[in-house]
Amino acid sequence: MTRSGDRIDSPIANSFDTPLDAPIAAEADRRTLIDRFGRVHRSLRLSVTDRCNIRCFYCMPDEAIRFRRRAELLTDDEFARFVSVAARWGIERVRITGGEPLLRERLDRLVALLRAIPGIRELALTTNGMLLADQARGLRDAGLDRINISLDTLDPETFREIARRDGLERTLAGIDAALDAGFPKIRLNAVAIAGLIERDAVPLVEFARARGLEMRFIEFMPLDGDRNWTADRVVPGERLRQRIEAALGPLEPIDRSDPAQPAVDWRFADGSGVVGFIEPVSRPFCGACDRLRLTAEGQVRNCLFSTVEWDARALLRGGASDQALGELLRDCTAAKRAGHGIDSPAFERPERAMYQIGG
Ligand code: SAM
Ligand code: SF4
Repeated sequence: MTRSGDRIDSPIANSFDTPLDAPIAAEADRRTLIDRFGRVHRSLRLSVTDRCNIRCFYCMPDEAIRFRRRAELLTDDEFARFVSVAARWGIERVRITGGEPLLRERLDRLVALLRAIPGIRELALTTNGMLLADQARGLRDAGLDRINISLDTLDPETFREIARRDGLERTLAGIDAALDAGFPKIRLNAVAIAGLIERDAVPLVEFARARGLEMRFIEFMPLDGDRNWTADRVVPGERLRQRIEAALGPLEPIDRSDPAQPAVDWRFADGSGVVGFIEPVSRPFCGACDRLRLTAEGQVRNCLFSTVEWDARALLRGGASDQALGELLRDCTAAKRAGHGIDSPAFERPERAMYQIGG
């Protein structure tokens, strides 16, 4: 795709410490981030903080957490500059995540900066929703397109068991606020964990479809901070789908318009709603992956399960050119492995847990 019309001339360009370099930008306009397996990368996940207001056991440890100091995290302008370069290398979709991204001060300001970047067609957010009641409207006004809200249960006790904190009421208020703010296509995400999800899956689907929201179930991945993941706690999407069908009626597969999207979506045959399954463990979708990730402190990763990182912060803070940042993206993409290999005996868990990468 050509981006010759996408010169960076928005007001934010003037706020960068390092000026954008016009001839290099023009050259980069012809570039794409393509790996050895022919996968073209169009999506970027930005983690904007590693902090969180709860402690989901599948993600964070409960205690002895060493959060990054604020000075270690990228600033809004650093994020925006990085995304501007990435956009000129073909990145079109950005998802803001964390940790809990709504804990970052003035997230709406960062959203507005990213929204102004030419070439970014979609700007989305993943949140636990607890702070959305106050922020949903401002984020929508700042230009956020889509929102995914994590909701594992509708039972306050189970919420406390999972999150090791209270918060269900606030999350539910956040979902209402997102609906009121007019976000199209709000999705709810639940991590499917054996021993818990069996009880909650059907009520969650009923809750979502009563509000016109899509419910998505994500298989539990070995990225929990406590390192307690075991394969027998993974509930395959297929098993969950059968349970939902048995309780609520037949589901039909929806054709995938975008093969890079991780979920397999199904609609109720009576037209009453959509349920999605993200199945990285039972049916890995690495072959169509188009995602790169930037951690809150500026490390680029080519996979959730990557054990190697590329230091963009050093470039951003060291006066590097856009060319150098683009080459870092290119090198990181080129080094991507064919798949995560969770099911292989040689699988090596990354050092970082989910909250430190950005899910
Ligand atoms: N705090 C926000 C939230 O919970 O939505 C954003 C960050 S969270 C790390 C992003 C997503 O990753 C959430 O939907 C969460 O449920 C999911 N997640 C966290 N740990 C996971 C794990 N070990 N396996 C699968 N999904 C996980
Ligand atoms: Fe926090 Fe999200 Fe991780 Fe839960 S999944 S601990 S809400 S970052």
